Amino acid sequence: MLLPLSIDVEAPTASSAPGAGSGAADFAAALARYRLAPLRRLAPATLQVNLGRLCNQACHHCHVDAGPGRKENMTRATAARVIELIAANPALRTIDLTGGAPELNPHFRSIVESARAAGRDVIVRCNLTVIFAPEMEWLPEFYRDAGVHLICSLPCYSAENVERQRGPGVFDKSVAALRILNRLGFGVGRLALDLVYNPVGPTLPSAQAELERRYRQELGAGYGLSFDRLLTIANMPIRRFARELERLGRHSEYMGLLVNHFNPETVAALMCRTLISVGWDGGLYDCDFNQMLALPLGAAGGRPLTIFDLDDLATLAGARIATAPHCFGCTAGVGSSCGGALA
Ligand code: SF4
Ligand code: SF4
Repeated sequence: MLLPLSIDVEAPTASSAPGAGSGAADFAAALARYRLAPLRRLAPATLQVNLGRLCNQACHHCHVDAGPGRKENMTRATAARVIELIAANPALRTIDLTGGAPELNPHFRSIVESARAAGRDVIVRCNLTVIFAPEMEWLPEFYRDAGVHLICSLPCYSAENVERQRGPGVFDKSVAALRILNRLGFGVGRLALDLVYNPVGPTLPSAQAELERRYRQELGAGYGLSFDRLLTIANMPIRRFARELERLGRHSEYMGLLVNHFNPETVAALMCRTLISVGWDGGLYDCDFNQMLALPLGAAGGRPLTIFDLDDLATLAGARIATAPHCFGCTAGVGSSCGGALA
């Protein structure tokens, strides 16, 4: 049964968000100082679906706490409802699949195929090494035949930095995967392949255009690899990265860096304004980061809503967005989103 949805209820904010981090960093107050509060949704254009926490890697900075031992994975019934919602909401032009490694979910293929058959753009957030996971040899050709847009994580062009963050052997496997994907037409003008950079430590990303130039030079000259764009993404002070910061005694320092670099110019382009995030169990959130903090959709006023509660996602336009201190990670400096820098 569908729940009545009131879009004007008070969304959870810094003081009420569970597990969101330091209450000293008041994101709602920062917005208010620039007359940008409350943060509200526009019409939804992207459905970002997190298919589960299972991953073939276990990176230090992972905001999902993903890894090979995780059991949370989207079921057939939930995947079927995702497919139903995509068909019923043609304004959702982009379906963005993430995880864990979304490809390891048994319903990954049917979601991709259904979304493509419905004429939507499909983004797959690929960690590159999943191509070499057991029984995944079909994957590169599947990406090509489905015509997906790949956004692949490669946090540096140096083997040492990649392996510090993602584990031994990951750089060589990533290079091998990129070679296969280039050969199939990704990143060479036929099919889109973007790379994602995130800092190895508690710093803000370098300038996106300059870093892209450096990546192109290093990966091109060193390995003969091509890609379309480099997206720089800040590390979110939540989950595994937050614990790592605590362990190093640098959590407050990193939060201070984010807060002190709050940039109001990034707010108009925040991804949560046009994106709806779906959890592996069908829960609805304003973004994948809020999902990891179990901070429900702001429109729901703290009630957990699921994909089974709503048919028309356009009703979320105008609703408040749930914010908390980690939101400073999206608004620091040039800003950060799943699509890279914002300002
Ligand atoms: S960062 Fe990506 S590749 Fe690494 S463990 Fe998390 S989901 Fe897997
Ligand atoms: S974490 Fe970023 S994307 Fe998510 S609600 Fe906060 S500002 Fe928006």
